[in-house]
Amino acid sequence: MVEDSYDVIIIGGGPAGSTVARYAAEGGANVLVIDGRDPIGTPLQCGELVPTNDELRRLCPDVPDMDDLFQTPKHAISRISSKMHIVPPSRKPLKFDFEGLVLNRVAHDEALVELAKKCGAKYIVDQYVKSVEGNEVKLRSGQSYHAKVIVGAGGHSDPLRRDYWDEKSLKIPVKFVLMDGDYGDAVELHFGSMAPGGYAWMFPKSRGANIGLGIQKSFSKGKTMNQYANEFISKYNGEISFKGAGSLPMSGTIKTFVKGNYLLVNDATGMVLPSNGAGITIAMVGGRIAGQVIAEHLKDGTPLTDYEKRWKNQMGDVMRNSKRSFRFGSLLFRLPDWILNLLFNRLTKGIIWRAVTCRRMFLIY
Ligand SMILES: Cc1cc2nc3c(=O)[nH]c(=O)nc-3n(C[C@H](O)[C@H](O)[C@H](O)COP(=O)(O)OP(=O)(O)OC[C@H]3O[C@@H](n4cnc5c(N)ncnc54)[C@H](O)[C@@H]3O)c2cc1C
Repeated sequence: MVEDSYDVIIIGGGPAGSTVARYAAEGGANVLVIDGRDPIGTPLQCGELVPTNDELRRLCPDVPDMDDLFQTPKHAISRISSKMHIVPPSRKPLKFDFEGLVLNRVAHDEALVELAKKCGAKYIVDQYVKSVEGNEVKLRSGQSYHAKVIVGAGGHSDPLRRDYWDEKSLKIPVKFVLMDGDYGDAVELHFGSMAPGGYAWMFPKSRGANIGLGIQKSFSKGKTMNQYANEFISKYNGEISFKGAGSLPMSGTIKTFVKGNYLLVNDATGMVLPSNGAGITIAMVGGRIAGQVIAEHLKDGTPLTDYEKRWKNQMGDVMRNSKRSFRFGSLLFRLPDWILNLLFNRLTKGIIWRAVTCRRMFLIY
């Protein structure tokens, strides 16, 4: 039985879904978000690092109006960091200036839900979407809802992506812990055989740190993800207060995000930047564009495919460079650690930084 009708139904109320909801509702649409979790954002599945708004302006120069999009409240920020260390297997870091926020991610996602609700979006939590047929969104509980436009923002296992898109994405498994202790101010990214085909991280929080890693299974030489995670995490001595895991799409965006009145956003489309794993802020960039286009579509018939065009205008260069860097890194990180140690040096420092921050590494590549 169809319970209710909406202009827009969004599957998933994470950073992508709640941002679509916020901007679509602000533009006048009648919006419902359905999420299987309660509260949304729990349990934590994140390294919790995002660039500051100023850093984002440098990283994504074609994205307008950052301060409207990113309004991270103080209580959702655990630490502001001004340094990033890129660490090869020798553990001798290359040091860079980088303005980052280490978040309290659960509070961050809750704040996004509140922003969307303030704009008028409605939420149903603790209910999973089973399938979508035509304009009908069917829940596992047996209820169903009707909408003119349906958005898949359910992350890497989104039901709309699963049932209506054939394209595959490379997903890498990720494990992390929260650990007590004092870890200084710099956020660290580690590359080499400790995280084959991916990277490991240590992001210091106001207390303790978020420590984890992701690997490409095809690079793993018979060792399990758990073995890699245990080996890296056991290099740090604090007490573990939380353990989490998840999966990150790492092959970049799929070809189309729109089919008829269905749209996909962020992890469901592979918007995560493969060269550094940034997903939260990119979810919100994609979410804002989708929300605005949907509102315009409902008002004056703007084609929903404008979402893809505007995404390419704002993020096309950044995504292209990030994919190239990831492919290059995937070749490089097959090399033995001793060669990587030699390759991470003062002369290559600039190239490595350009790769991590999604710029062209070389003039011709
Ligand atoms: C371990 C880990 C560490 C990471 N670290 C970082 C980091 O440090 N910085 C960074 O920027 N990014 C990081 N990321 C990536 C980032 O977390 C994601 O890119 C981001 O959360 C994607 O947002 P989203 O809204 O697309 O999906 P999600 O945040 O995954 O939200 C999807 C929502 O959809 C809901 N949902 C799914 N299926 C259904 C369904 N069938 N019915 C109803 N609801 C459904 C889920 O409950 C969830 O709330 C990390 C990811 C992982 C896994």
